[in-house]
Amino acid sequence: MNILIMGGPGAGKGTMSAKIVEEFKINHISTGDIFRSEIGKQTELGLMAKSYMDKGYLVPDEVTNAMVKSYLEKLDNTKGFLLDGYPRTLDQAKAFSEMSKGTSLEIEKVLVLEIDFKELAGRVTGRRLCKGCGEIYHVVSHPSKEEGKCDKCGSELYQRKDDTEESLKVRLEEYENSTKPVLDFYEEKGMVARINAAQPIDQVWNDTKKALEDK
Ligand SMILES: [Zn+2]
Repeated sequence: MNILIMGGPGAGKGTMSAKIVEEFKINHISTGDIFRSEIGKQTELGLMAKSYMDKGYLVPDEVTNAMVKSYLEKLDNTKGFLLDGYPRTLDQAKAFSEMSKGTSLEIEKVLVLEIDFKELAGRVTGRRLCKGCGEIYHVVSHPSKEEGKCDKCGSELYQRKDDTEESLKVRLEEYENSTKPVLDFYEEKGMVARINAAQPIDQVWNDTKKALEDK
């Protein structure tokens, strides 16, 4: 099965991706991996992408599209893939849909992890990190035994600078503006499964599995 996964900041996309890949034994494909691989192997497309990046430009959609397709075609795709970070724009979504039509690379399901702003704000602004060992705490759901001090190494805990409601709002708006057209595109084709990512992880995983199993 070929799946596209989408989810805003703090929606737990990484956690769900890992579970999906393990359960369904499919390839996890992020655009970052594709770029690294194609540039590392110095393929024609990889070098082209690099020439843009070296100049500080965005890589044009045509190059990204062609690179994704070339990467996927070389892959052993008998069980399918989980696409992460692509298509990112409506143009990419349309182009990929054209390119993959009638092939084994067609996307079949679009999984969207949704979480409302209030819930997300609570998660993000309550986060505390250890200066010493990097352990992550949360003032409500996972507090340290002694306030402001790490249970593991005793170092001081701190809050990341952009873990505030204001900065979260900006990140979320950016995400929503850029992904809405892509989502609408797939919604029209009836491919979108929306998952409530504000639930406990086990429940999110249950819903995810159910959405992927019923076709
Ligand atoms: Zn620590």
